[in-house]
Formats: sequence, structure tokens, C-alpha cells
Amino acid sequence: MQKLQGIAVSPGVAMGEALVMDNEGFRIPRRFVARDAVEHELERLDQAIRAAGEEIDANRQAVSRELGDQYGAVFSAHLQMLRDPALRIELDEMIRQRHYSPEYAVSRALRRYAKVFQSIESSYLAERVNDIFDIEKRLLRNLLGRRREELSQVISPVVVLAHNLTPSETANLNREFVRGFATEIGGPGSHTAIVAEGMEIPAVVGTGPFLTDVSGGDLVIIDGDLGLVILQPDEETIARYRHEAAEHVSRATQLEALKELPAETADGVRIELFGNIEFPHEVRHCVERGSDGIGLYRTEFLYLGAASEPDEAVHYEAYASVMNEMHDRPVIIRTCDLGADKVSHDAEETRNPTLGLRSIRLSLKNLPLFRVQLRALVRASALGDLRIMFPLISTLLELRQAKMVLADVMEDLDEEGVKFNHQLPVGMMVEVPAAVLMIDHFVDEVDFLSIGTNDLTQYTLAADRSNKDVAGLYSSADPAVLRLIRMAITAADLKQVPVNICGQMSGNSLYTLLLLGLGLRRLSVPPSTIPEIKMVCRTVTIPQCQRVADHVMTLENSRDIKNYLRDELKKVVPQLVS
Ligand code: PEP
Ligand code: MG
Repeated sequence: MQKLQGIAVSPGVAMGEALVMDNEGFRIPRRFVARDAVEHELERLDQAIRAAGEEIDANRQAVSRELGDQYGAVFSAHLQMLRDPALRIELDEMIRQRHYSPEYAVSRALRRYAKVFQSIESSYLAERVNDIFDIEKRLLRNLLGRRREELSQVISPVVVLAHNLTPSETANLNREFVRGFATEIGGPGSHTAIVAEGMEIPAVVGTGPFLTDVSGGDLVIIDGDLGLVILQPDEETIARYRHEAAEHVSRATQLEALKELPAETADGVRIELFGNIEFPHEVRHCVERGSDGIGLYRTEFLYLGAASEPDEAVHYEAYASVMNEMHDRPVIIRTCDLGADKVSHDAEETRNPTLGLRSIRLSLKNLPLFRVQLRALVRASALGDLRIMFPLISTLLELRQAKMVLADVMEDLDEEGVKFNHQLPVGMMVEVPAAVLMIDHFVDEVDFLSIGTNDLTQYTLAADRSNKDVAGLYSSADPAVLRLIRMAITAADLKQVPVNICGQMSGNSLYTLLLLGLGLRRLSVPPSTIPEIKMVCRTVTIPQCQRVADHVMTLENSRDIKNYLRDELKKVVPQLVS
């Protein structure tokens, strides 16, 4: 058994056979072979080694011809490794004695070699690890041929293990079969993490390298509550997790009973609980959990994985389906927040994409794209209580420009005789420290604010939300972030502008007492967390929350703040504190 600590990003526990993705996004299968198929499998291995050898030799000759023998020598080293008799003996033994499939034997043996190289402190040998992976990939390609399977073709329950998954790869996981996933890289606030939580798939990211230690078919546990990945767990661990899974189900049943009850504090203050969604179909998750509305619809996900740019009809259809399902409940739709980790939009070439042409900046630079979305939004406002929100506003000028484009679009639609809500509320995300510092001006120009703690944390602490190496620094409980949140709430309250909070922080019950105590009365959360947050709201009083918030604001670091909040939560809803 091997235990790895990563970052817990989507709660729950998953146990199942590992599906290990190679770096090209293909699955490395494990298949035991039948005893009488051994000779045939050895023959397949022979052919694959021969074909891989021929490919490498062809590369060696081509490169030597073009660049000289010293460059071609790289491939000679590959050939030597591929034809190493010790490797061949090991592979034969695995297939003959243990009845492993050649694919499994190849990945197991070469990953063991890679691990040995990685553990030796020599940069030369560390470089050679890539050569080993290269040989593994080449052999697998030859062995699998057209039988290579893509992630989307999974047809049995698995736990996906990968170096990285992009937000759109995550969104395309087949929920029916993928029980959970773990990735070597990624940070706590990444959109991959957010999508996983939206899909309610237990997930752990940022474990560091471990794929060399595991092969397809191994039993793996993903603990999305504690951020653990357990490879080949022992019987005792399996039994413990089975027990926990049963408890999880009983707690979920208990929480389900709250569905029809309002999120009202013990002293009678109504808290609005809204859902965050990435895709229209998630509205169902919100309705099922009794949400009061949609507080954040991240429309950029319309673009992710789409074969072509969505036109006005595609936008409208998505918004109309959300409006129709929510009936008259409020729906806050955010204009596209493309860029950074959410879309490939030249992010590869852009240095510091999080500080680049992202979000509203991109919309204002690409007005045709922005206008298409705004037209669809304004048209959909005829269907119910639709509110528009602009993301990543940093300056007053940006907000005014965005509002001007919106006014222009409304004028056009008026001329075309299209019906819509002329008073549709317009708000902005508060997620850049500059916006908080100017908040007393912003409140005069918007109908509502929504605090985005994911980006506010990233930009306040200068810590990339997707980078595991600064995950220790990236904390929404940092006193600097909390001060900014408090400033925004105070300014909004002064002008009686409704203020919402919609980053991942609001869906974590650890922070509910604090957020209510700071004055928030509307929380927008991942749908799966609605029952838990509602339970906390219904247990506490506002003065109790205010006392907690007052104390928190005297503390100096996020660790003390989290420990204090854990103790306070334990006093009121002990079953939520593990
Ligand atoms: C945020 O930044 O807190 C937020 C809600 O937006 P996103 O996570 O989509 O950047
Ligand atoms: Mg954001």
C-alpha cells in the first residue's frame, strides 16, 4: 500500500481499478492473458519490439543524415535500451509466469526503471527518464495499434489517474464510469477542480509524480475529503473506506430532509442559497437541492470543447434552458471569462495568462464575440429573472465600456422589435483587489456585486490558483483576503447594493459562520454543498456569527483562522467536522 498526499478539490471517496492515462491521453490497459495465449502474446511482444526498433533506427538514420552522427546517437541509446536482454528477460517472465498482458508488462517494467532513474540524484540520469517514457510509448503504440482507447471510450467503472486534466477533459469524463480522479499537477482553485466539484466526482490534484508507481488495473482509493490517493490499499484500509462510504450515504439522506426547508438562521434571518453552474444540465442539481436561484453561471464552458465558436442561437438555447428550468427564480449569468486556465486561447504563448487578455478584457477587445453573447442574454431576459454579471472588472472604465456595449445591444434589439426586460439588473464580480479598493465608486454604477474569492485570493496573495507549489499560500482564509471581503461588504451595505459571494470558499461549511458574521445574506455555492450550508445556516444565530467574525478579524494567519473556525463549527454542527 502506498499513500500520497495531494490537494482535496472535490469531496467524497472513490474506490476502483486504476485507469492510467499516458501523456498522450490514452489508456494503458491491464489485461491478464489466458494460459494458452502466452505464446501468442510473446510473439506479439516480439513484433512490437521489432517494429519499434525499426522506427527508432529509421529516425537515427534520418537525423544522422541531416545533423550528423552525434545527434543520431540519441536514438542509438534508445535502441540499446529497447533491445537490452535484461529487459526482455523481465518482460518474458512477467508474461510467462504471471500471465500479464504484454502492454501491462511493458508499462510495469519500464515505469520501474524510470522510478529508479528518478530516484538517483543526477540531472543526466533524470533526463534519461524521458527516454524510457519514450520507449514505453513507442512499444505501447505498436502493441495496441488501433485498439488504443480514449478516455471517452471507457465502458467499465474506473478511477482515472493522469499527469494533468484540462477543464474540458474533466467536463468530458463519463460520469457513469469514472468514479474519481487524481492528477500529479494542478492547484486548489483550478477550473479542473471546480468542474470536478460541479460533476460531483471525488478528486485530488497536485500529488506530485506517482504515475510510475501504478499500473492500469491496480486498486486505488481517492479520498477527496482528505486529499489522499491510496495505491493498492490493504484489507483494513478498504474496510475502513467502505464503512465511511456507508456513513456518507446516511449523512446525505439526513441532509436531503432539509430540501424543502428555507435557509433561515435560528433567529429567523433568511439566507439566500444560490447554485454555481458551468453547464445548463447542472440546473437540475440546484433544483433538486432546493436552491433559491443560480448565483453564477460560468458561460465560458460553452466554448470549451466546442468544435466551432458558439453563435447567438447556441448561446440563446443554453440560457433559455436554464431560465425555463428555474422559472421565476433569479439567474445570474456571467459573460465569458475565457483565458487563463479555462481555454487554450493563445495561453501557451502568453506569459502570465492570468494577468493577460482574459475575461472581460478579452470580451472588450473582441466586440463581435461579446455582442453575440449579450444579444442572446438580453433576449433570454424576457423569459424570467435574468441578471447579467461582468467578470474580472479591474477599473471603472472597463465597467462603463461593458455597460455601453450592453446599452448598444439593447438599442439594436429594440429597433428590431425584440421583447426583453429593459430593467434587467447588471452587476459585476469583485475578484481583483483594485476593484475592492475602488468599491465605493463601483457601488454607484451596478445593481449588485458578487465576490469571487477564487480570483480575489489568487490576485491578493500573488499565488496561482492552479499551481500546487504555492497551494500553501493560496488560502481564502488569509487575513488580507478577509479584509478585502469585508471592505466590499461594508461599501455595498452602505449603498444598499445586494452583495453575493460565489467563489469556492462559500461552498465550504467551515466558512459559513464567518461569512454570515461579515454580513453576507446571499451565498452562491457548488450545488452539492447546498444541503450542508443550509444545515449550518439553520443551526446558528446572526449575533453568534458576528462574534465569530469579530474574533477571526483579530487573527493573523490563515492557519489560526481555519483552526478557530473548525472549533466553532464543531460546537454547532459536529457531524460536519471530521
Ligand atoms: C472566482 O474567481 O471566485 C469565481 C467565482 O470565478 P471563477 O472561479 O470562474 O474564476
Ligand atoms: Mg474568477
